[in-house]
Amino acid sequence: MKVGKVYLVGAGPGDPELLTLKAIRAIGEADAVVYDRLVPESILTMIRDGVTRINVGKRANFHPVPQAEINEILVRLSRAGRTVVRLKGGDPFIFGRGAEEAAELEAAGIPYEVIPGITAAQGCAAAARIPLTQRGLATGVRYVTGHRKANEALKLDWQSLADPETTLVVYMGLANVEEIVRNLIAHGVPAGTPVLAVCQGTTAREQRTCAQLEALPAAMRGAAFTGPVLFIIGRVAGLALERSEHSNAADTRTISIVA
Ligand code: SAH
Repeated sequence: MKVGKVYLVGAGPGDPELLTLKAIRAIGEADAVVYDRLVPESILTMIRDGVTRINVGKRANFHPVPQAEINEILVRLSRAGRTVVRLKGGDPFIFGRGAEEAAELEAAGIPYEVIPGITAAQGCAAAARIPLTQRGLATGVRYVTGHRKANEALKLDWQSLADPETTLVVYMGLANVEEIVRNLIAHGVPAGTPVLAVCQGTTAREQRTCAQLEALPAAMRGAAFTGPVLFIIGRVAGLALERSEHSNAADTRTISIVA
């Protein structure tokens, strides 16, 4: 029997209009879709009737399906001749473990294609109308993960991250916000550096908070965000702070300022 194909597809940060045309075409062609917790319902509704849907973001017991099992599912479906879309939040290769799935497919000799998605950093920055790089404010941008294994310290090179010339975007950082802020300040980042925190960016439930770095943990306790949160740290975040000081009534999303 003919082997199928797997599309590793980025679903973007939440707004379905931020899907690529390629992603929409792949979703339309798929006869099986394997998706994560971060993929919103508004995108899942694009899956045709009769297509197998597998939610690997959570099972009946609320635990995500282990990565090895996801890899097996992809291999099994494609070996059965199916066209499989592996739908992941944002971009599949940015903190998405997409490369592990690609390696597994490669090893199994299964044809696959990668369809990039707009990563949370770009989606959230655009929604807040701030640039991630800008002449005079940031010569570059770095994406890091603020997630750590239980009982281990964060494995980040704080000295190299403490660079006021570049923007630092922290994914999965909410649970460790205190450790992140403490380390950045200890390595020389000014305590007054502006930070934009975005929750569920680009969706109708988006919430944003601006704070100075040292006030970020308190701001996060106050904000009590539910959903994925991204931190954009650096001078460019100051543009959101400035704007929110004269924010207009048309912007109904929460902008709380903590000085
Ligand atoms: N592959 C994804 C990232 C997966 S890691 C991408 O490229 O965007 C999951 C983390 O991404 C979340 O903990 C959060 O930090 C961030 N994230 C994803 N979507 C987000 C959104 N809509 N708003 C804010 N943060 C988001």
